[in-house]
Amino acid sequence: MSVKTDDKKYIANTYARFPVEIVRGSGALAYDENGKEYIDLGSGIAVNIFGYSDSEWIAAVESQLHSFQHTSNLYNTAPCVKLARALCERTGLKRVFFANSGAEANECAIKTARKYAENHGKPCAKIITLENSFHGRTLATLAATGQDSFHRDFLPVTDGFLYAPANDIAAMEKLVENNDIAAIMFECVQGEGGVLPLEKDFVRGMAALAEKRDILLIVDEVQTGNGRTGALYSYMNFGITPDIVTTAKGLGGGLPIGAVMFGKKTSEVLQPGMHGSTFGGNPVCCAGALNILGRIDDKLLEGVAHKSELIVSALSGAPGVKSVTGMGLMLGVETERDAGDIISECMQNGVLVIKAKNKLRLLPPLNIGDDLLIKALDVIKAACAGKAE
Ligand SMILES: *Cc1c(COP(=O)(O)O)cnc(C)c1O
Repeated sequence: MSVKTDDKKYIANTYARFPVEIVRGSGALAYDENGKEYIDLGSGIAVNIFGYSDSEWIAAVESQLHSFQHTSNLYNTAPCVKLARALCERTGLKRVFFANSGAEANECAIKTARKYAENHGKPCAKIITLENSFHGRTLATLAATGQDSFHRDFLPVTDGFLYAPANDIAAMEKLVENNDIAAIMFECVQGEGGVLPLEKDFVRGMAALAEKRDILLIVDEVQTGNGRTGALYSYMNFGITPDIVTTAKGLGGGLPIGAVMFGKKTSEVLQPGMHGSTFGGNPVCCAGALNILGRIDDKLLEGVAHKSELIVSALSGAPGVKSVTGMGLMLGVETERDAGDIISECMQNGVLVIKAKNKLRLLPPLNIGDDLLIKALDVIKAACAGKAE
């Protein structure tokens, strides 16, 4: 059996995979089928916060596996309650719904916003999202995603979304003025869109507008959340209080989990029968997530800020680098050479990097050692400086 040829034959052709098979990992290091070692700066797309096969996380997951792996949401279980309580205590939000992915968390946020608007005399109110955003691949989250290229092949997408340009508060005010709006939904740093942080004034402006008009503020922290930007959740960098926060990717440390956190206004909107998920709140995923969340402390976050500076100072102004954008350990690097060529060259030289639009996107484990990070940056710098083919 060849994994690569069977993959091409039997797996739905939705991913343009790199020609590498990952067979094991340890910390920030991944190993392929030939035993070749890579420093992985993608973390499975911002998922493996503590790298591969972290021993503390394994112990938490394994211990839960020996108790029970799953039951239905018809019964109480400790891991999901402990995790929900920890999330509420860390954020000040009031209640949590558990899903299995980012898209599912956003679906739940969208349903909640629609129901909230209906409860407040605005049936069929719309949700505003930003141009160039990314919110997921289900039909509603695809519609929420403010990029035509994602909609094109799957029309009609779900109705009820309006799009506003980022960092233009006047345009946002105009949309709010002329429509019944249930919510404004955004990423504080647009990830898939090219690692673009929103301007602080714009984020605060949206928060003020939402407050004034009784519009819900939904922050999509699927990628930015769980320490990635140097705060537990990226909205904390902007001094705002969202009504709904969604997260996923890094929360489970590598097991699938999504969470929707509800603030005061939204904590009682969903009632029995309105929403649910067979796997949501799975005890094994929650036990892993509880371990991860407990370790995202001030010391780790200081490390994120320090490593972020290390990357920014190494790459800003380096030969072949046009710009470095982002926050914390979520950074985009605009290069003179084609990003795909740089990524291939880095891979040959033992560093895994991913892309966002036409940029390199760096999402290293939050606890990557400085030595490994510096080694990887040298490889990236050399590739950026290299001549275009
Ligand atoms: C990845 C991502 C999603 C979708 O998450 P899935 O777990 O792939 O469904 C949604 N929003 C943002 C901002 C993301 O980065």
